Amino acid sequence: MRCIYCDKEIGKITFTSLFLEEDSLCPDCRRMLPIKRKCITLDDLKVESFYEYEGMFKSLLLQYKECCDEALKDVFLYGLKDYIRIRYAGYALLFVPSSQKKKQIRGFDHLELIFEDIKLPKAKGLRMKEDLIQEGKNAVERSRMRQNYVYEGELQKKVLIVDDVLTTGSSMIGAYEAIKGKTRHVRALSLANKNYHFPFKNKV
Ligand SMILES: [Zn+2]
Repeated sequence: MRCIYCDKEIGKITFTSLFLEEDSLCPDCRRMLPIKRKCITLDDLKVESFYEYEGMFKSLLLQYKECCDEALKDVFLYGLKDYIRIRYAGYALLFVPSSQKKKQIRGFDHLELIFEDIKLPKAKGLRMKEDLIQEGKNAVERSRMRQNYVYEGELQKKVLIVDDVLTTGSSMIGAYEAIKGKTRHVRALSLANKNYHFPFKNKV
């Protein structure tokens, strides 16, 4: 078996490795992808994040999303799947939608694929009003993104909003505002975060 990123030979399957989840990254690549668990508060929403959006994580995510390399889907939650299932038992996953145009080019829904074998229910019905591709950097664009989500699905008891990278926080807050009247409890999970200020930390 070879490392999915650097192509180095990983080694033979041993007796003990049969009982563990198989990592598609070699130990050297895995070391470059350290988990830095963080809890970020946006408004009154608690967001858990696993990685910093930099270095290895950034390269892997870009290769996965922009080069449509579907085979990378398992590298991001390696060793975290049981943790998520247990910590968020009782929650339904709600994915922050990506642009339809991007999804068509890619041919797969990148977030749903990463979380597909996590045994938690998936809530459907969150969509973007307008097919915006990226979070804008200025206040007007951010506010446009923040108001760009609508939830048309069923009522839910507990919802875990899921996204890949937390940047300005406007997509996450947009999704939160769309769902919060339709559920009793909301938490959020972002694979990674960009380590800079979050403009919605205090209400504007
Ligand atoms: Zn490697």
